[in-house]
This record gives sequence, structure tokens and C-alpha cells, in this order.
Amino acid sequence: MRPFDYVEPETLDEALEILAGDPDDTLVMAGGTSLVILMKQDLVRPERVLGLRRIAELREIRTTDAGLSLGALATHGALARSQAVRDHAAALAATFAAVATVRIREQATLGGNLAHADPAQDPPVTLLALDGVVIARSRFGERRIPLDALFVDLFETSLEPGEILLRVELAPLPAGARATYKKFLPATLDDYATVSVAAVIATDASGVCTHARIALGGAATVPLRAREAERSLAGRRLDDAAIREAAALAAAATDPIDDLRGSADYKRAMAGVWTERALREVA
Ligand SMILES: Cc1cc2nc3c(=O)[nH]c(=O)nc-3n(C[C@H](O)[C@H](O)[C@H](O)COP(=O)(O)OP(=O)(O)OC[C@H]3O[C@@H](n4cnc5c(N)ncnc54)[C@H](O)[C@@H]3O)c2cc1C
Repeated sequence: MRPFDYVEPETLDEALEILAGDPDDTLVMAGGTSLVILMKQDLVRPERVLGLRRIAELREIRTTDAGLSLGALATHGALARSQAVRDHAAALAATFAAVATVRIREQATLGGNLAHADPAQDPPVTLLALDGVVIARSRFGERRIPLDALFVDLFETSLEPGEILLRVELAPLPAGARATYKKFLPATLDDYATVSVAAVIATDASGVCTHARIALGGAATVPLRAREAERSLAGRRLDDAAIREAAALAAAATDPIDDLRGSADYKRAMAGVWTERALREVA
């Protein structure tokens, strides 16, 4: 690994100040599980690494008047165990519990996961289906970025140099909404998803769909919302025909890449199968 300077500020203001001093050659580090691999492979070459781990306020997981706030430094393990996360949506806690192995879950963080922007990761998919909003701050101000505007391309986000991801905010779900996360793992249980699907559905007293969100992971260069599929469910009963049609539209929305976890054709077909399973569960 190339030599680099390492700094570990105690406060967020201090961190933002250091980052603003040299935003192009400084990289922030949270758990380090992805960044250190990239540095060892010489794929990124920061002159300075800014460790965030002393900034305790970024670790907070709390319920607010506006819903749920998940600090960027919260680990997947802490999020999976959090009662506040479970109360918001059990499927969200299950999503964090589905990340890799216990060793990774106790080290890697929510903010690192989102900023790394690997489309096969788990949390982005459920957070997209829950209409998550990312709060990012630089020395010059704060931005709210809806999650589907965060992911730009493979390993690329709309975060600007000099910005630190602070937290993700989730508004309360519509009354009676049901959510699920399905991770398709044909090889080993600790792998990244071949494809994954999150679905959030609410129906009125007569069983008509009033709210539908479907998000897919491993199905394109970014985690994506299947908006046509969502629209096809609006105002309909979630019967067999509606579910099959939505699953077909979700599969059609994918544009997967061939990799070790499957060919593009296989992943597209599996996106349809797992969307159908997810919708049957929440219906
Ligand atoms: C063996 C292995 C298996 C894995 N399996 C899975 C899996 O099954 N599912 C899954 O979802 N993920 C998986 N991951 C990824 C893991 O979840 C990490 O959460 C994540 O990619 C990085 O988190 P981190 O805190 O370690 O970030 P780091 O490695 O510290 O940082 C990653 C990137 O994010 C940036 N960054 C970090 N924090 C911030 C912040 N607050 N603001 C702005 N930028 C920031 C860094 O500069 C860097 O570019 C796996 C990782 C490994 C090593």
C-alpha cells in the first residue's frame, strides 16, 4: 500500500474543515472494510485518510418527530439489533442482518455502504423502497439527497468532494404498510446478492393497493426502483394477475451486468421470480 497521512478528528466541524482543505486528495474512512481493499489494490490513492470513528454523533440511531434517523457511522450489526429500526420496519433490520458475515457487520457502516455504491449491496435496496433520504454536509452547507438520486453509476454517487454523509432519514410508513426484503443467494449465505428485492405495500380496507414501492439490487449498475411495476399495482387488488404483471415489469426494468454471480439473462429472470415472491408475501 502507498504511504498516506492519517487523521482522526474528534468533531464533525473539525472533519469538515480538514476535508475542505484538500477535498480531492483526502478520503474519509468509516469501517474501512471496502476502502482498505481499494487502497491495497492501488485502485484509490489518497494522500490523506480522514478517520470518522471518533465522531460519536454520527453513530446515533433514533426515532424523531419526522420518523427514523440512522447515523452514517452506525454499523450493520447495531442497525440489525436496534429496536427503533425493528419498530420502523422489521424488514429493514433483516436487511442489515443479511449483510456478509458477523465480522463485516460489526465493522462496516451504513454511510460506508451507501458511499461505496456497489449495486449488489443489501441496505440500499430496502432504504430505496422505504423512500430514504440521505443528509450530506460539507463546510459550505447541508444537502438532502433522495436515495434514488444518490446512486449515479457503478461505485459512483452524487456526493461531492468535501461532503460527508451524516445520516439517512426515513419518514413513517403509511398506515398498515407491509415490507419485505428478499436476497437471492445461490452460492453461499455470506455472499453478495445475485439479485435482491425489497417491496413495501399498503392496501385499503377493501384490499386495493394504495402504496407500492419495489426496489432491486444486483439488477443494474445501480440499485433501482421498478417504477412501472409500482404504477401497475396502484389502485388494484393484489391478485395473481396483478402480481405477475408487476413482477414481469420489474424484470423488464433491470439491466444487469454479467459477473461471477450470474449472467445478465439469469439475473433478469431471477429479478422477476424474486419480485413475485416478495409481492406475494406482502400481499
Ligand atoms: C468480505 C466482504 C463482504 C461483504 N458483503 C456484503 C454484503 O453481503 N452485503 C452488503 O451490503 N455489503 C457487503 N459488503 C460491503 C460492506 O457492507 C461495507 O459496508 C461497505 O461497503 C463499506 O462500509 P465501511 O464502513 O467499511 O466503509 P469504508 O470502507 O470505510 O468506506 C467505503 C467508501 O465510503 C466512503 N465513506 C465512508 N463513510 C463515509 C461517509 N460517512 N461519508 C462519505 N463517504 C464515506 C469512503 O471514502 C469509501 O469510498 C462486504 C464487504 C466485504 C469486505
